[in-house]
Amino acid sequence: MMSGISGDQRLYSYSAVLMGSPILLKLFSHDEALASRTFQLIKRYEDLFTVNRAHSEVMAINHAAGRHPVSVTRPVYQLIKCAKAASMVQESAFNLAIGPLVKLWRIGFNGHSVPAATDIAARLALTRPQDVILDDAAGSVFLARPGMEIDLGAIAKGYIADRVRDDLQRQGVDAALINLGGNVHTLGAWSIGLKKPFVADNALVGSIDVVGQSVVTSGIYERYFEQDGRRWHHILDPRTGYPLDNELESVTIVADDSLDGDIWTTLIFGLGVEKGCAALRHREDIEAIFVTKNRDIILSSQRRFRFHLLDDSYRLTDCTA
Ligand code: AMP
Ligand code: MG
Repeated sequence: MMSGISGDQRLYSYSAVLMGSPILLKLFSHDEALASRTFQLIKRYEDLFTVNRAHSEVMAINHAAGRHPVSVTRPVYQLIKCAKAASMVQESAFNLAIGPLVKLWRIGFNGHSVPAATDIAARLALTRPQDVILDDAAGSVFLARPGMEIDLGAIAKGYIADRVRDDLQRQGVDAALINLGGNVHTLGAWSIGLKKPFVADNALVGSIDVVGQSVVTSGIYERYFEQDGRRWHHILDPRTGYPLDNELESVTIVADDSLDGDIWTTLIFGLGVEKGCAALRHREDIEAIFVTKNRDIILSSQRRFRFHLLDDSYRLTDCTA
């Protein structure tokens, strides 16, 4: 499941495929046991949260939709509670109950045609976050209508990246990087590449220097198909049931916690550049790097990171411009 490759400057990389993505752990000492424990931790959480298999705690909730509440373990309850709160924010593009639409589009899972409008409308009715009923005392979750499905695909990696960070810290590791495929978390100082959208190779538009921060990127180039001369990607607009369509190609959030990064990438995709910049003006804890279809790279501020442009076909500006 994993391979240790010793690199330059005594940097050791360990990799595994989990949650449908290549996972990368970088350490400054050769420690296969630590890498193995880290991957096991990730796998345990994946087993709780996944909706891409018949069984998991989240699937148990989904299977009981419209019938009865399901008591779940603390991490699952906590993450669902947090996801519901993010979904209930006014005009939020984030919706934990988006499952029926994700399953209909199947983007990234053999989906290759736009579903019928009537099917989209029917599924939209099953995605109301207020129909996810939480009971703190029982630690249970009830989906009020049959056919409802929770999907934590937008934030499970963020939650897990934070748990890996906590675990490494507890074990006295002071320099490490974990990459869960879009979600990067760091202990110590690192430089992280920002991918150029829609190119096959690993070309970068820039690099992001951080110290002990999470760097989360969400992009419309990650999973999509093409039809009628358009790209149909995997970040859906909970208001319409169709992929979110605006000037953005990717959004990167730099924050202490990867869970915040994951929530905010989705929120910002819903807001677009102008409203996104405005929303972040009073949030010193959340910083963003927007990459647009017009090849603008827009920085919200640079308190938590330094950005270096590596591709001069892009124009670097900031939210005040
Ligand atoms: P990410 O790769 O973190 O941007 O998350 C994308 C995944 O989140 C999709 O593959 C879906 O499983 C799920 N998803 C899509 N649209 C939404 C949405 N509006 N709110 C919450 N989750 C979503
Ligand atoms: Mg996300």
